Amino acid sequence: MNDALQDELAALLGTAHVLTGDAATPYLTDWRKLVQGRARLVARPGSTEEVAAVMRACAARGVPVVPQGGNTGQVAGGVPGPEGDAVLLSLARMNRVRAIDAQNDTITVEAGCILQALQQAAREAGRLFPLSLGAEGSCMIGGNLASNAGGTQVLRYGNARELCLGLEVVLADGEVWHGLRGLRKDNGGYDLRDLFIGSEGTLGIITAATLKLFPLPAARCTAFAALAGIQDAGRFLARCRAGLHAVLTGFELISGDCLRLVTRTYPQQRAPLATLDAPWYVLLETSDSEDEAQALARLEAVLATALEAGEIGDVALAQSSAQARAMWQLRESITLALAEDGKCIKHDVSLPVSAIPSFVEGCDAALRRAFPGVRNFTFGHLGDGNLHYNVARPEGLDDAALHAMQPGLSRLVHDAVHALGGSISAEQGIGRIRTEDLLRYKPAVELRLMRAIKQAIDPRGLLNPGVLLQPPPL
Ligand SMILES: Cc1cc2nc3c(=O)[nH]c(=O)nc-3n(C[C@H](O)[C@H](O)[C@H](O)COP(=O)(O)OP(=O)(O)OC[C@H]3O[C@@H](n4cnc5c(N)ncnc54)[C@H](O)[C@@H]3O)c2cc1C
Repeated sequence: MNDALQDELAALLGTAHVLTGDAATPYLTDWRKLVQGRARLVARPGSTEEVAAVMRACAARGVPVVPQGGNTGQVAGGVPGPEGDAVLLSLARMNRVRAIDAQNDTITVEAGCILQALQQAAREAGRLFPLSLGAEGSCMIGGNLASNAGGTQVLRYGNARELCLGLEVVLADGEVWHGLRGLRKDNGGYDLRDLFIGSEGTLGIITAATLKLFPLPAARCTAFAALAGIQDAGRFLARCRAGLHAVLTGFELISGDCLRLVTRTYPQQRAPLATLDAPWYVLLETSDSEDEAQALARLEAVLATALEAGEIGDVALAQSSAQARAMWQLRESITLALAEDGKCIKHDVSLPVSAIPSFVEGCDAALRRAFPGVRNFTFGHLGDGNLHYNVARPEGLDDAALHAMQPGLSRLVHDAVHALGGSISAEQGIGRIRTEDLLRYKPAVELRLMRAIKQAIDPRGLLNPGVLLQPPPL
């Protein structure tokens, strides 16, 4: 069915880039298949000017717009709701590297640039772009910035926010903010860039970004250690921080159940240690400007003291980059293996590192009492205090029963996080699925200020309605 907006967008972008019906369907379901949305059409602009023209055409008719990058988000923020009135705006065609300034250590890329392609472009220029996460082969930098993605290198380099110096953003009415500055110091008032980062498409469409680059590390070392208890993980992290300082780039906690699930689901992936029955494992990485032998010696010395102190039971040090990649593949396969196992109830929480052992022990026990038979699959970026606290259904329970169990179970988990001073969204955002949790746990003053910002920048509420902020309760 043709309509005036569809005709106008087809004239602007070409008919091949305005999709409806079956061609639009793949854009409308989120990665976890939690939300099956509907849209009026999917628009695929190829330049900032085209994004601005789409926004003007939508604003003129009061049509909402949902921006989408790689659609790998875990909270269904990049897909529309069931209303069917929105335009889904895919940034996928805007995938060019605009400039690399090696002296300034910056790269400017369009929002649809796939993270892995961006890392590769930096590498070819002899530099490192350190943002790294399991979805890097399909997520896009615009989506990474809109959700302030974290990943496995935050300990050393920070979240997407810390890696971004400037943005180009198209506003709801089609006006373009040209903020692509490659400056490390710029104190000219409110930081607009930081408002758009993490706004999950509710304040503007990010069309390009200027990002920080770093020297390529001369040596990377990777180790996989088994731990007898969660209490040991915090002590081991403190030892690694003290002994390795800034060269500690990643410190990932993996429960034994997660590791066993991955090796069961993907039998070609082998665990690096002989025993597969430890309750916890840690995958850690250092990246160093020293040569490989010195870097290895430094890590070995720290691991030896941890073994002696009984914090780790067994440890394997990668002897080649292939072995290191295999260790990381185990870690990065957890989300995929969980998806193969069926739907589960996911939580992405952050806590003070010191509170993590008591959270895990207390919450696991409380869940088992309240929901007998549930199975925990906990892993996360321990160095950042970030746990992916996943709870799988008891054997034999169907999807409907799991769905019914979810609100009470998540409430128990989030209450425990809140009581310990944590956050119910560490790195994945709020999206469509955590809006009620945000209302419950965010202080009223923060919600009021967030709504005031939304009202100031998108007064008609056209950008990604239903995501992040719900209207205040009546
Ligand atoms: C296997 C796997 C592992 C993952 N590991 C991690 C991890 O370690 N750390 C982590 O933080 N996340 C992780 N994620 C979640 C996800 O990959 C990230 O949130 C990623 O940053 C999303 O990027 P995307 O391009 O797919 O965005 P999308 O899913 O398309 O969108 C995410 C949000 O950003 C908005 N958006 C997208 N593009 C734009 C734009 N150009 N302008 C304005 N708004 C926009 C959308 O509307 C939506 O609200 C993982 C996901 C998977 C599947």
